[in-house]
Amino acid sequence: MDKLKILFASSEVVPFAKTGGLADVAGSLPLALEEVGMDVRVIMPRYRIKVKEDQSSLARDVKVYFIRNDGYFDRQELYGDKFGDYKDNLDRFSFFSKKILETCKRELFAPDIIHCNDWQTALVPVYLNTIYKYDPFFAKTRVLFTIHNLAYQGLFDKDEFPKIGLDWALFHVNYFEFYGKVNLMKAGIVYADAVSTVSQTYAKEMLTPKFGCGMEGVLKSREAALYGILNGIDYEAWSPEKDDKIFKKYSVQTMEDKYVNKEMLQKESGIEVGRDIPLIGVVSRLVDQKGFDLVSRVISEALNMKTQFILLGTGEQKYHAIFEKVAKTHKKNASINLKFDAVLAQKIYAGSDIFLIPSKFEPCGLSQMISFKYGTIPVVRQTGGLKDTVSEFDPKTGGGNGFTFEEYKPQELLAAIKRALDAHKDKQKWAKLVKKVMALDFSWEKSAEEYVKLYKKILQ
Ligand code: ADP
Repeated sequence: MDKLKILFASSEVVPFAKTGGLADVAGSLPLALEEVGMDVRVIMPRYRIKVKEDQSSLARDVKVYFIRNDGYFDRQELYGDKFGDYKDNLDRFSFFSKKILETCKRELFAPDIIHCNDWQTALVPVYLNTIYKYDPFFAKTRVLFTIHNLAYQGLFDKDEFPKIGLDWALFHVNYFEFYGKVNLMKAGIVYADAVSTVSQTYAKEMLTPKFGCGMEGVLKSREAALYGILNGIDYEAWSPEKDDKIFKKYSVQTMEDKYVNKEMLQKESGIEVGRDIPLIGVVSRLVDQKGFDLVSRVISEALNMKTQFILLGTGEQKYHAIFEKVAKTHKKNASINLKFDAVLAQKIYAGSDIFLIPSKFEPCGLSQMISFKYGTIPVVRQTGGLKDTVSEFDPKTGGGNGFTFEEYKPQELLAAIKRALDAHKDKQKWAKLVKKVMALDFSWEKSAEEYVKLYKKILQ
């Protein structure tokens, strides 16, 4: 049988542009798909990035198409700036979505599957089933729409609807209309041949009012075609043995060097240098979703327990203000870095002992998997992909791989941190735990096979 042709459409792709986990997925899943025998290509907007002419592929020659429109994409940021979302996002991403289909025709690449991701590409299945409905070129093309985060739906005012270029009849509760607004993700869910999300737990959670962000009804109507496939990570990019950005490479065999990283990180961050002081790391978008209201309520108490805290993140202004204050009151043991910095991120994964991810909801979460690989123990709330990957450590049996809590309450988070700090005191047991998590395997291989199975099912 011929190789399945897959076009992977994403608004961000590592190494070209990244704001979050979607970019990591888009930069690594296509490689894993190629590895298991797919003919896969990637398509993304050409932002203000330094893409060299010869850099039009991911590793191993997975072709990347860049959609160029400097008016739309030659900007500092991807989706918005300090004033909020870019006002012309609907123009930008309906343009991108149309170009995805036009590029297929221009390149004579008729995909079996267009794998769309999040609201920025949600119009692709809509255009395919309207404008291109009778186009023989796409007669066999099907769409998988993957939701990486339900909280970002691509919502626009009703009067912007004409920008999409479709009949007003589609501004209807069964398609685009959502409480009087235009909702791209909703239309994507309705028109895609199948819908998936990035963990099995989130696939269940999203059907409930608590997690559904108002989309639970439309998702429920597609339940028969809704799947959960856990993200993987690319161990070529995330591995302390290969990581050029950290202070010193290390592996399970050279564990001492993890602590060289810790000391160098402490030094660089201007906090006390010492191997035995438990260092808690955070690398995250600073938004409500990630549980920072909990963190901000327990951080002072945690910092009074002979610990250190290093945070890297950007996001909502209120959290910037809170953590600026933490930096001032805990000068000696807190390092607050309010920016996006890929190099510092890797140093934190490598140099920390404990990593906090107390999310309110978490479709998959990559940080816990990255932490594992670097021998850093996650403290997580049991939700979405965090629930599917992290289980409570039992000091008696040595079972489990992290510290978890269920109820979204500050005292629950604090209790989990305390359990982690207690466990950290027992050097031997901790060392064993660290080695154990470093050996866990969350590579893409298994998930890529699951996607292939799903593609085939859609095509049947
Ligand atoms: P989300 O996509 O919801 O932001 P994920 O856990 O899926 O969360 O992925 C987040 C990714 O972005 C991780 O690779 C994380 O290390 C990275 N990241 C988040 N904030 C920053 C930052 N300020 N600097 C560098 N990397 C960051």
